[in-house]
Amino acid sequence: MDTAKRRLDTLDPKQAFAFSQAALQDYQECRRRFQLRYLLQAAWPAPQAEPVREHERQIRRGERFHRLAQQALLGVPLDRLDAVAAADSDEHLAQWWQNFTRLLPELQGEQRYVETLLSAPLGRHRLVAKYDLLVLSPGPKLVIYDWKTGLKRPRRAWLEKRSQTRVYPYLAVKAAAGLRSGLSLLPQQVEMIYWFAAHPGQPEKILYTPEQYEKDERDLLGLVHEIDSLSSNQFDMTIEERACQYCVYRSYCARGAAAGSLTESDEEFEPEGEITIDFDQIAEISF
Ligand code: SF4
Repeated sequence: MDTAKRRLDTLDPKQAFAFSQAALQDYQECRRRFQLRYLLQAAWPAPQAEPVREHERQIRRGERFHRLAQQALLGVPLDRLDAVAAADSDEHLAQWWQNFTRLLPELQGEQRYVETLLSAPLGRHRLVAKYDLLVLSPGPKLVIYDWKTGLKRPRRAWLEKRSQTRVYPYLAVKAAAGLRSGLSLLPQQVEMIYWFAAHPGQPEKILYTPEQYEKDERDLLGLVHEIDSLSSNQFDMTIEERACQYCVYRSYCARGAAAGSLTESDEEFEPEGEITIDFDQIAEISF
């Protein structure tokens, strides 16, 4: 029996879609990329950036850093992790690890949630996110930490525009009860900190507000409503061809054979594969 699912090239009207910040970011950068990646689930025929080996290296380095951070936060003895970092073949990792161990004493609270998945309804769909670390303190106050493992430290203005900066605090407020039964958070009780492994002294703190929460809710609902309304031929290719330089679908779109260089990108290069969401593990919130 053929059990292969037919891929739809629009959102399935009968089924909710799990929107991650990455999916929303892709849609905002290029509707066609969203369709290829999340609806058609097309294989990636082209490397995202050149040189390919360096790209791969960045992905794996980011993954290893996230694993070390996760293990440290879950209580694995630091001397064991020191040895793992010191033995790593990548010249950046041992330094990043040292940077992280200096941050560790700050990451205290009443309760810590490591690599936690949250989900909440978004119209007829769901919004999902995986958090590197959430620190809950009396008040209550919730600090969202996100480890960034690009080599460049992105500008605040660039970060503020990212879907992640909108989705993570919004969902933390919306789905707070998924962390602890009965927990309720006001937007002003949430803040987000981007911490840069290569630039540990320059974290970016973003305070959340009721006004921003309302705006995020309006914008996110508007966005998924717009995606719901698109027919298959309305997932247009971006007119910003610069975005194609770093996109794996260039050959599908005849947007050039050569990828952009990582060193030429003036934005943070966020390695694909750094964030993996296991949808089966998401803390479901009932409303
Ligand atoms: S190559 Fe360009 S047009 Fe095609 S999916 Fe990627 S970003 Fe969109």
